Amino acid sequence: MKDKKTFAVIGAGLGGAAVAVLLKQAGFDVTVYERAPHFSRLGAGIHMGPNVMKIFRKMGIEEKVSIMSSHPDFWFSRDGLTGDYLSRIPLGDFALKEYGAAYVTIHRGDLHEVILSPLDEKDVVFGKHLEEIEDTGDEVLMKFADGTHAKADFVIGADGINSMVRENLLGKEKPTYSGWVAHRALITGEQLAKYQHNFEDCVKWWTEDRHMMVYFTTGRRDEYYYVTGVPDPDWNSDAPFVDSSKEEMKEAFVGYHDTVQALIDATTSVTKWPLKNRSPLPLWRRNRMVLLGDACHPMKPHMAQGGAMAIEDAAMLVRCIEEVGTSDYQTAFELYEANRKDRATRVQANSNANTWLYTQEDPAWCFGYDLYAEPLKDLVKKELA
Ligand SMILES: Cc1cc2nc3c(=O)[nH]c(=O)nc-3n(C[C@H](O)[C@H](O)[C@H](O)COP(=O)(O)OP(=O)(O)OC[C@H]3O[C@@H](n4cnc5c(N)ncnc54)[C@H](O)[C@@H]3O)c2cc1C
Repeated sequence: MKDKKTFAVIGAGLGGAAVAVLLKQAGFDVTVYERAPHFSRLGAGIHMGPNVMKIFRKMGIEEKVSIMSSHPDFWFSRDGLTGDYLSRIPLGDFALKEYGAAYVTIHRGDLHEVILSPLDEKDVVFGKHLEEIEDTGDEVLMKFADGTHAKADFVIGADGINSMVRENLLGKEKPTYSGWVAHRALITGEQLAKYQHNFEDCVKWWTEDRHMMVYFTTGRRDEYYYVTGVPDPDWNSDAPFVDSSKEEMKEAFVGYHDTVQALIDATTSVTKWPLKNRSPLPLWRRNRMVLLGDACHPMKPHMAQGGAMAIEDAAMLVRCIEEVGTSDYQTAFELYEANRKDRATRVQANSNANTWLYTQEDPAWCFGYDLYAEPLKDLVKKELA
């Protein structure tokens, strides 16, 4: 009989949920511990590229995601002041044909719900804030803020930028504030209809030190979303986000194109989030613990690929565990790191630089990536190289 090893996943965000689904599909025993008491539909959208949609295919949720989301034909980049087009990156049918899956934009809460949907209620335990973790060599012991304990053969740290599992591996260190904030607002279709503008499916308005990314978050196109990047050297709050205002938006985007002004006028509520990151970590794993997603490579969100990298990590981790088996788990985790580090670091650097699709560049290296078709890097050859 197969010796069934147990996995604990810390954090039920995009990466944690994806790794739990894939581990379960592969026949492993997995429990997710999430500190939040429950999830709510926070006001934010997200892009999912063909690189992730191919993983959703494997998870059995590609169609669900596809039906719910908006399918832009292009990513437009436009000059924030003049409205001139800087790039027209083909998506839509082009993405289906060239990259092997759709490029979609969707509400983050809706996406999260679909990713979690293959799991049973008992697989995700809410209200479990990990406070202490110890790898004894034979198993991993966890202690939660509510005084309860749990143990597992392996722990996956999918607990985001302030990861407790990362802290156990590498010591306490706050992430770095990048000097930029992101405003986020959702605008209903009804509200949008009051303004006579050409609201494009997916467009990024740029000037030298700031931008506004705008897209629909539903297939019905009845919810429009914007997310900005604006310098704010004075941010000094520990809060994950604060309320912003129309007035603040007007000031930040003074002189911007009429369509942007109309979007600000249509705004009813807007929040402001500090953008934080970390330098690439020197290690992603030790013995029975391994990191994924923002816990090991957080980035500024300007490539719209941070969540995508968490989901790619999840898929590669499970692929390597299946390939090697759990009896040699150290090799499995090493293989995972070897097959993820270069790509995640490249995306992290590119995203932090905020130049993605500003010009008519070819995004095939990112969108065309098929994690399951990619041959696994050979550990021995890599060490010799
Ligand atoms: C403004 C903005 C826009 C973005 N847009 C995009 C986009 O369009 N496309 C894209 O791919 N990415 C985007 N991203 C990036 C994306 O949101 C992140 O990279 C992604 O959420 C990382 O997923 P994760 O699962 O690693 O971590 P998270 O989503 O942060 O999930 C971590 C989970 O762990 C839980 N947790 C934390 N600590 C503990 C603990 N001690 N015990 C138990 N549970 C814990 C948290 O409650 C949370 O549920 C954006 C980010 C921002 C800030």
